Amino acid sequence: MNNFGFEKTKKFKKTIPIIERELISVECSFCGQEFKGSYFNDYQASGCAAYLEKNGEIHCHFGSELDGDVYAFCKLPAKIEEGIICDRCIKRLIADGKISFLRSDLGFFDVAI
Ligand SMILES: [Zn+2]
Repeated sequence: MNNFGFEKTKKFKKTIPIIERELISVECSFCGQEFKGSYFNDYQASGCAAYLEKNGEIHCHFGSELDGDVYAFCKLPAKIEEGIICDRCIKRLIADGKISFLRSDLGFFDVAI
């Protein structure tokens, strides 16, 4: 825990210098698939850029086909293992009826003129 009351997670790790990016890939915490190549940092790659939060919400970020979407579990599991989740795993959870669309955060960072 830091002074802001946030727990440090992999999600908030500092940006990796470009020279080290050759060595890393983004791995889905759920299916274990590695996404190399078109990644943006150590938790966002093309096709794998969403995060399952402790509260059961899945937030899709830049790199995900579902960028901006927020999903929630229809029935919250007893234990949530937070982590990076790939588009394929999210689509499987949707198809299985385990999660559903909650809202879109797209445009959340837009500045009003
Ligand atoms: Zn996956």
